[in-house]
Amino acid sequence: SMTIAGFDDALAKAIADEAQRQEDHVELIASENYASPRVMEAQGSVLTNKYAEGYPGKRYYGGCEYVDVAEALAIDRLKALYDCDYANVQPHSGSQANQAVYFALLQPGDTILGMSLAHGGHLTHGAKPNLSGKILNAVQYGVNDQGLVDYDEVERLAVEHKPKMIVAGFSAYSQVLDWARFRAIADKVGAYLFVDMAHIAGLVAAGVYPSPLPHAHVVTSTTHKTLRGPRGGLIVAKNPSEELVKKLQSIVFPGIQGGPLMHVIAAKAVAFKEALEPGFKAYQQQVVTNAKAMAKTLMARGYKVVSGGTENHLVLVDLIGRDLTGKDAEAALGRAHITVNKNTVPNDPQSPFVTSGLRIGTPAVTTRGYTEADCVELAGWMCDVLDAHQDESVIAAVREKVTAQCKKYPVYG
Ligand code: PLP
Repeated sequence: SMTIAGFDDALAKAIADEAQRQEDHVELIASENYASPRVMEAQGSVLTNKYAEGYPGKRYYGGCEYVDVAEALAIDRLKALYDCDYANVQPHSGSQANQAVYFALLQPGDTILGMSLAHGGHLTHGAKPNLSGKILNAVQYGVNDQGLVDYDEVERLAVEHKPKMIVAGFSAYSQVLDWARFRAIADKVGAYLFVDMAHIAGLVAAGVYPSPLPHAHVVTSTTHKTLRGPRGGLIVAKNPSEELVKKLQSIVFPGIQGGPLMHVIAAKAVAFKEALEPGFKAYQQQVVTNAKAMAKTLMARGYKVVSGGTENHLVLVDLIGRDLTGKDAEAALGRAHITVNKNTVPNDPQSPFVTSGLRIGTPAVTTRGYTEADCVELAGWMCDVLDAHQDESVIAAVREKVTAQCKKYPVYG
């Protein structure tokens, strides 16, 4: 047999168990989603066999005529999706896309100004353990006591440190960023504005979150979060200079990557086509509606939400001053089959391994079909668990309700 089962039963079981977990647990990790069967069909295709170093029409290998078609489709659709002029679909991940931008435009030791990990930025925005924080001189901004980006502080830091690049974007922030203000600050100090829209790429594509494309010199994203494609990265730009295009193209290949993952690029092409369909806008609107409903329910039950609510797909719960940490909360919810991640919140007294917060996101449940009413119900059960996180009978009762709710909305049928 050519199947995994019968050849490698341990692995077959792990895959089957994961499939079952995805069906009968409620997925609230803000960076996750369920790729469509079509996306997975492309990703599991024979395109995985093909070397195609270079770009469509300019390859270093023969036999690329069909993968050229796939990559050209992905590029054209991506440009249409974000109404832009430049697209590179080869970055293997969001982190690789960001690395490409840094090495295309900066030299080691150059100063960048990005949002700190502790306040909602990503590791690749200049955090110390990441290469961006080791090779570059990273200055970091954060949020104020209201949990909002303080643009005056960003401007003050920009004027003081004269960064070559300002990085905007986040992994844990619930409000709308003012891209124009970021660009004005960048222009004032002669810096590039680089936006990492990984978390909100789907919302932006659907027009339910302002697009950074008209404002940023360059924009990156992952393809697997709200955008609901395969695991991967991308780079886009509107009206880029010829020089910028050259630098970005050559840094991705041969600068930091070798052969592109043509099966993943084909899967990106599928996902971008799906995102161009009319139903995608309704989906993204529902993602935000559901997140707002969860935030409102949590706050009505006395839980503090960073920034006082949400304008996107995620909610940050602040547990500072309560008798449970983010780690304990994640574990208690996990026992109720509710999957979330612990997350640092502004001014968190706990370490990143413990934290005082939870990040909750609605992209995955909304893909399953959860309505606003379902999300209100679910958030209520989450409060039941958090209120009584040491009471296993409460947790068991919630788990039963969660399981029944999941059964109503099969992920893959
Ligand atoms: N940028 C942001 C804002 C993210 O949230 C993430 C995901 O964790 C990344 C980049 C990195 O993407 P990847 O995990 O594909 O390297």
